[in-house]
Amino acid sequence: MQWKNWSGRQQASVESLVFVRSEADAAAVVSQSAQAGKTIRVAGAGHSHAPVVTNDSVIVDSSGLTGLLDVDIQAQEAWVRAGSSIYSLGGQLHDHGLALRNQGDIDRQLLGGAIATGTHGTGRNLQNISASVTGLHIILANGEQVECSKSERPDLFEIARLSVGSAGLITRIRMNLQESAVLSEQIRIATYADTVDQIPDLIAENDRFEFFWYPGSDEANIKTINPVATEPEYPLAEEGGRVAWSYEVLPSHRPHLHTEMEYSVPAANGLVCFAEIRQLIHNRFPDVQWPVEYRTVAADDIWLSMASDRDTVTISVHQDIRLDEEPYYRACEEVFLAYGGRPHWGKVNYLGSDDFARIYPRWHDWWRVRDEHDPEGVFLNDYARGLRPR
Ligand SMILES: Cc1cc2nc3c(=O)[nH]c(=O)nc-3n(C[C@H](O)[C@H](O)[C@H](O)COP(=O)(O)OP(=O)(O)OC[C@H]3O[C@@H](n4cnc5c(N)ncnc54)[C@H](O)[C@@H]3O)c2cc1C
Repeated sequence: MQWKNWSGRQQASVESLVFVRSEADAAAVVSQSAQAGKTIRVAGAGHSHAPVVTNDSVIVDSSGLTGLLDVDIQAQEAWVRAGSSIYSLGGQLHDHGLALRNQGDIDRQLLGGAIATGTHGTGRNLQNISASVTGLHIILANGEQVECSKSERPDLFEIARLSVGSAGLITRIRMNLQESAVLSEQIRIATYADTVDQIPDLIAENDRFEFFWYPGSDEANIKTINPVATEPEYPLAEEGGRVAWSYEVLPSHRPHLHTEMEYSVPAANGLVCFAEIRQLIHNRFPDVQWPVEYRTVAADDIWLSMASDRDTVTISVHQDIRLDEEPYYRACEEVFLAYGGRPHWGKVNYLGSDDFARIYPRWHDWWRVRDEHDPEGVFLNDYARGLRPR
């Protein structure tokens, strides 16, 4: 049986690819696999560039665990099944007057996959999606089903709200939400020289700001998104001019297959780090056509979050799937690390356990709690085992 990710770059020959549609089935699969000494990884929508799903033993496809469960409009919270796509959730939440607090460039991810890697959008005051998680229902390696939150099994909650797939099979997620709002999106193109000095103001003055810089033309495609007190405009305009509910405006269409490396650096280092990446591309990789993306994410308190304890700028480099990205990405990684960077868990990096221990003060705590809940490593694949501290 073959499993492959969105780009096809990550592939696995897997003994069993299991499609679960209920918690009871998922729990039985976990128990039986664990008893047989097999290892399990859960697949979301397969949109990670890193080997976070690949496994040769068992892969559990979670896309059948869908649906919006209890919605508490007053508290702006809802339980959601982990296999729900962000795409499908938008309209369902909106029917209750609610929306995710933020989301990424695309909405094809499943919620379970998005929270496992700290998936984020942009906005100086907006945190990643994992930071909105207030409770989890999870199947542990011994088949037991438990709930966790900041007050109930807080250690398990801490490792599972950003787990990189290694804590257990998450079946339900309680999300902190916000009131549904109409947003207006604007895109304009400007030269890098004209853009760079405006960036701090653009970040400060807009709820959401990002830009893509194109190495060939040295131009930046600047996007801002802000709430407006108007009705949605249908049919939706082309990307760059949409005025509609947040779930209709925030996602983009990204059909071109690529790989991606993204690092989060402390917000104060964002521009100087970006300037060095730009120089690196011009000097050493002049053939790179794919853009560099620049976004902001607010600090959170999650042990393995790229924005843990610090406001962050994320800088992403991309390469065509048909090209060898490694020399380019390795050179970029050196720059990112020099500015205190942390790699996105769902994207390419070349770091080992010792590097992560330097980057994350709670790295060993995270592993200690994970191992307490899964001593046999049922939920570890080769990649995760390779990161286990010795
Ligand atoms: C075109 C494109 C655009 C992207 N845009 C953004 C962006 O704007 N912002 C951003 O931050 N990232 C972005 N990403 C990265 C993407 O959001 C993350 O890699 C995300 O994890 C993918 O979600 P998924 O559902 O595909 O999960 P997968 O890639 O299938 O899985 C990711 C991890 O989640 C685990 N997992 C999935 N479901 C469960 C579950 N139920 N229980 C336990 N573990 C689980 C898996 O085991 C794995 O470790 C983008 C990726 C692509 C390809």
